Amino acid sequence: MAQIRLNHVEKSFGQESVVKDLDLTIKDGSFTVLVGPSGCGKSTTLRMIAGLEQQTSGEIWIGDRCVNNVEPGKRNVAMVFQNYALYPMMTVKENIEFGLVNRKVPKPERERLIKEITEIVGLSEYLNKKPQSLSGGQRQRVALARAMVKSPAVFLMDEPLSNLDAKLRSQMRTELIQLHKRLGATFVYVTHDQVEAMSMGDQIIIMDKGRVQQADTPMTIYNDPANVFTAQFIGTPP
Ligand code: ADP
Ligand code: MG
Repeated sequence: MAQIRLNHVEKSFGQESVVKDLDLTIKDGSFTVLVGPSGCGKSTTLRMIAGLEQQTSGEIWIGDRCVNNVEPGKRNVAMVFQNYALYPMMTVKENIEFGLVNRKVPKPERERLIKEITEIVGLSEYLNKKPQSLSGGQRQRVALARAMVKSPAVFLMDEPLSNLDAKLRSQMRTELIQLHKRLGATFVYVTHDQVEAMSMGDQIIIMDKGRVQQADTPMTIYNDPANVFTAQFIGTPP
């Protein structure tokens, strides 16, 4: 249903080509991790899927629609950012509710959704707090809740845990895997951390220098790396 397909997608900024002939399928309902060194084009790829960046050429399909000319709000995706992107003047509840008010969701339905989702992400006690009084992990949960109220078919997450300390990061990884099972949506998760990638994803896409080096299950990548880059990047002997 919400399989994502990139057909020969390219992206240049001026003269600089940053994504080169991306041709890949992200399976419906998968937890797909896009991993590679800093600057290899992961965020640009995610932003093109979200519609926040227009590709220079090629097609992007979400489900059975080519979304090349579909605006971000109509792509049935929600993005979760590394820096949370919360509104500092609004409470947790207002931050989560904002998008629902914009979409004219009636108040009783908004209340129901917020109650249900804040229980799932463990924020029920914090609804009237401002973001600056929350910990990093709690802020990231607000960002997740804000994405969840849209019930998107696809969650796009750009290094969502990289501002958290190691202990919290490991806890949030487990929570995200559980959340993925519970929601049954397609998760596309960007990280530069190969350990995180291999432990979280059921499908892994390894990128380097704007190209896909290998796209497979963690097991296949580990046992049968496609090239020297992949082998070295994930740390198996070449
Ligand atoms: P990653 O997320 O893998 O670290 P990015 O997708 O952010 O990589 O960036 C890939 C390349 O594209 C980098 O060289 C970066 O400097 C360049 N780039 C990204 N966004 C822009 C932009 N808006 N304008 C110019 N260059 C950009
Ligand atoms: Mg990035």
